[in-house]
Amino acid sequence: MAKQIQAIRGMNDILPDQTGRWQAIEQVIRQLVARYGYSEIRMPIVEHTELFKRSIGEVTDIVEKEMYTFDDRNGESLTLRPEGTASCVRAGNQHGLLYNQQQRLWYMGPMFRYERPQKGRYRQFHQVGVETFGIASPDIDAELIIMTARLWRDLGIAEHLTLELNSLASNEARANYRDALTAYLREHMDQLDEDSVRRLETNPLRILDSKNPAMADMLSQAPKLSDYWDQESREHFESVCARLDAAGVAYTLNERLVRGLDYYNRTVFEWVTDSLGAQGTVCAGGRYDGLVGQLGGKDTPAVGFAMGLERLVLMLEAADTLRVPKPVDVFIVVGGAQAELPAQAVAEKLRDAFPTLRVHQHCGGGKFGNQLKRADRSGADIAILLGESEVADNTYTVKFLRGQGEQTTLDWNGLQALISGLELK
Ligand code: ATP
Ligand code: MG
Repeated sequence: MAKQIQAIRGMNDILPDQTGRWQAIEQVIRQLVARYGYSEIRMPIVEHTELFKRSIGEVTDIVEKEMYTFDDRNGESLTLRPEGTASCVRAGNQHGLLYNQQQRLWYMGPMFRYERPQKGRYRQFHQVGVETFGIASPDIDAELIIMTARLWRDLGIAEHLTLELNSLASNEARANYRDALTAYLREHMDQLDEDSVRRLETNPLRILDSKNPAMADMLSQAPKLSDYWDQESREHFESVCARLDAAGVAYTLNERLVRGLDYYNRTVFEWVTDSLGAQGTVCAGGRYDGLVGQLGGKDTPAVGFAMGLERLVLMLEAADTLRVPKPVDVFIVVGGAQAELPAQAVAEKLRDAFPTLRVHQHCGGGKFGNQLKRADRSGADIAILLGESEVADNTYTVKFLRGQGEQTTLDWNGLQALISGLELK
């Protein structure tokens, strides 16, 4: 036998027994963004490498070591998108969606990062991203966070998630803070790990994000960014907090929350859970007022977030709070060759009469008993048995597969009435 080819490490098939849950989550998300008046945008999966270098930043984990970058046949450097914000801004600029306008956009799709695969961390994963443009005031920051809080309630997992909040303030405030932090870290050079020594010159704020327990004590004594906040950023942040208070959304201030991408300023936030081990961040975002300009557009305030669907799926699997629809409601069992045409006809008649009914007509022949076993395994509520006598009498024998009652034989009207009365899940 020929050798089978396997999928690429860290790139998963989502199999039929899982897609029901994915669809259910996606459905809740689509409804959510619609309820807030957001429009969908769809971008390509591949972009010029330059786009990500210029937006995410040259000295970030993503650009330094996580991108899938390759040369196109004409020698151009292309990259599989590691996130959606850069592409969304690129598309917005390119099509004039951002110029002197307000936009509320969302997208969903695969992202690619060359990371070490583990639970909740993959090389192809899926994000839902939400981005807003043209609104500088804190009401929109709050709206995005309030919207995510509603999503956790809709999904039934609110109790497993906590909100961490910080402000990265203005570029100037951050630059001042950066000097103070660098000076402090230099004094504690002996305690820095290899990664942090490298970052000291290039991206010292990222050192605050380090998960290395050996540096935890030293970092907790470091200068605090909030001591360097500019007045306007402070007021902006306080207003975001006040709006969250008013909406009943709880949060904790995390002074070391800096995010791994360079484009953020002011509000940054993460929704974290302790139920996924080290991969605890389910949703993360913030304000990025400089990015549109940096990518060649007119300066436009912006704020957004992205959430990882695999991590959400893992949480929902554990919490089991989301109803996942089964694929089949009604299974038609075909009793012999003479029932085959009538079976196909009744299947179509049922689909006409009940447009949302999921009808599985058995195909491929085979023993009655085997078909009934399949009917049971399909998860259907009822089986409709069509044998010689049913075909002759124009009747339908219904077998209840979930213990709802005795087998019964009905005419078409009776069958319709019975199906109308089923509580299909
Ligand atoms: P982490 O700290 O876990 O590496 P990140 O800061 O790199 O996350 P973002 O770039 O902010 O993540 O992406 C937003 C969300 O996308 C994350 O909170 C997470 O839920 C999800 N995500 C990011 N990278 C991966 C991955 N490799 N596999 C699965 N989900 C991911
Ligand atoms: Mg990461």
